[in-house]
Amino acid sequence: MATLLPYGVHRSYAIITDPDAPGGVGMEADTFTCHHCQFVVHMKPFATLSNSNGLCRQCWKPICTACVRLGTCTPWEAQLEQIEARDRLLRQVSASSPMALRTG
Ligand SMILES: [Zn+2]
Ligand SMILES: [Zn+2]
Repeated sequence: MATLLPYGVHRSYAIITDPDAPGGVGMEADTFTCHHCQFVVHMKPFATLSNSNGLCRQCWKPICTACVRLGTCTPWEAQLEQIEARDRLLRQVSASSPMALRTG
């Protein structure tokens, strides 16, 4: 029995190293994964979702600025389902093609 992840923001921690920075000083930053396209967004230090990136007004999940500009709610899971549905449809079509019917 699969258990669902707790509802909420999945956050991870990343350290960005900037080779151009004097002495190669690393910058620490929070990251979050866009709920729509799975893009990993590096948040600026002390930034919050409200002032640096977006929150989808339809699924209330953090999304990247590109998805904010799209203005549509297309969660990653829905996109995967669409791909799976298309695969199923293609399989059904190929299984019921005239060639397949004629062999019966
Ligand atoms: Zn996105
Ligand atoms: Zn959304």
